[in-house]
Amino acid sequence: MNEERLTFFGYFRNIYTAVKSSAIGMWITFRYVWGKKPVTIEYPEVREVLPENTRSRLYNDVLNCISCNMCAISCPVDCIYISSVPRPKDLDIPKCDDGTPKRQVLTQYVIDTALCCYCGLCTTVCPTECLTHTEDYEFSQYEVEDMKYDYLTDDLIAWRDRLVKA
Ligand code: SF4
Ligand code: SF4
Repeated sequence: MNEERLTFFGYFRNIYTAVKSSAIGMWITFRYVWGKKPVTIEYPEVREVLPENTRSRLYNDVLNCISCNMCAISCPVDCIYISSVPRPKDLDIPKCDDGTPKRQVLTQYVIDTALCCYCGLCTTVCPTECLTHTEDYEFSQYEVEDMKYDYLTDDLIAWRDRLVKA
């Protein structure tokens, strides 16, 4: 008989405990949700305004690059590939916007963004400040090989021009 009473009261105690703990949980949730602004946005219609010092996709204004290799040397993951040749002696030496002479002809400037950790070291050491981080974060690819960007190709130059106009 006693065992039967215990089972009977235990049944209702369990229901009481379940309802009580659910109410406490809902109250905690309610306190954190009520009156708070939503933290989600309707991407891609709405886009986050990123901070000015955002370090996203790298942009090399190759017209102002002197092929000094400083960026590649400073890169901790060796993901910058540069090639250049000396400018023929009989040709005039052009200058960057800041007046630095361009004694080398840049023949390759590739960054493997699949390896890049966006540390910013390469942009810090660049003497002509032609290498900068942008706020562009929409450059995913289906193949990891396609994450290598050659800054001398037409599509990268077009991307750079779009970015400058924006
Ligand atoms: S941001 Fe860092 S990891 Fe990326 S290319 Fe520059 S130095 Fe290398
Ligand atoms: S550090 Fe700047 S100027 Fe030198 S190779 Fe790199 S991007 Fe060009």
